[in-house]
Amino acid sequence: MDDEERIVSAASNDAAEEQVEGSLRPQTLNDYIGQEKLKQEIGVYIKAAKQREEALDHVLLYGPPGLGKTTMAVIIANELGVNLKQASGPAIERPGDLVALLNELTPGDVLFIDEIHRLPKNVEEILYSAMEDYYIDIVVGQDAGAHAVHFPLPPFTLIGATTRAGMLAAPLRDRFGINGHMQYYTENDLVAIIHRSAQVLHTAISREGAHAIARRSRGTPRIANRLLKRVRDFAEVAGKETVDPEIVDYALQLLRIDERGLDENDRRVLTTMIELYGGGPVGLTTIAANTGEEAETVADMIEPYLMQIGFLKRTARGRVVTPAAYEHLGIPYNQN
Ligand code: ADP
Repeated sequence: MDDEERIVSAASNDAAEEQVEGSLRPQTLNDYIGQEKLKQEIGVYIKAAKQREEALDHVLLYGPPGLGKTTMAVIIANELGVNLKQASGPAIERPGDLVALLNELTPGDVLFIDEIHRLPKNVEEILYSAMEDYYIDIVVGQDAGAHAVHFPLPPFTLIGATTRAGMLAAPLRDRFGINGHMQYYTENDLVAIIHRSAQVLHTAISREGAHAIARRSRGTPRIANRLLKRVRDFAEVAGKETVDPEIVDYALQLLRIDERGLDENDRRVLTTMIELYGGGPVGLTTIAANTGEEAETVADMIEPYLMQIGFLKRTARGRVVTPAAYEHLGIPYNQN
């Protein structure tokens, strides 16, 4: 299945969803729920940068999709009171695209580059001097007429987001002064996010209803918001005024999302590993080939959460299904 179609995919689905997401996005650090350590740290750096009237140091945010990296970038720009330019790694195809983005910055502005690990190499190299000393040298003209042009830039803040910090080249990684590792959210944080979103969407939801959604949200605000919207539709059609655990159970059963938030893709990965490989160890590419998924989808969208809840372990010889996963799936565990 294409990951874009998954209800519990942490990836953003389409333009319509992005629009709703925009309306659910907190705008200040105070409204940003969870990630306490990161929030506290960034709050201090923002204050210091403002007092010194300097650009904030470059920030690298890494963690699985849907945990609030873009939201954090929006908030940082808001709190600094500067403009935010948004771009994404794969969309910046040529050096000229990056130069055009940098050219629009005014002093102190934030440039946010999502999926920064997917920047083409020759574009990435331009970023080095831009980040370190606020200039770029570009070559214009061709052959005998080719010459370098030195192009000073205003002081600015680059915020890069990536799902895997390990995929970033060291020279780029080293140029970020602030490193933010985003963590999966606790159930209580997700409950707070769900209540806040329900208010924005004018939906009544009980405490238990919010917990029932939070438990199935894979520690991810984007999924929590998406499940809330789906369940709200079921509640409205059923003539219920309040979203409660019964309607959550009913809706998510129909959507085939189980009580740990696993969908058929997750369960297929686990059962394939169990049925074909005795629970592992199995390599990533083998898992991908046998489940019809892209290796990257398995690595980015399926595995991290299964590991987080202790259903999958990564060993030197490959991935291994844990006894907890067998129990969840109702399959007897045989140590041999
Ligand atoms: P990412 O950039 O990491 O993929 P986003 O920043 O786009 O994730 O967040 C996805 C959705 O989740 C947005 O609608 C946002 O409003 C919501 N969200 C993320 N983090 C939080 C948070 N800490 N508090 C409230 N809502 C959040």
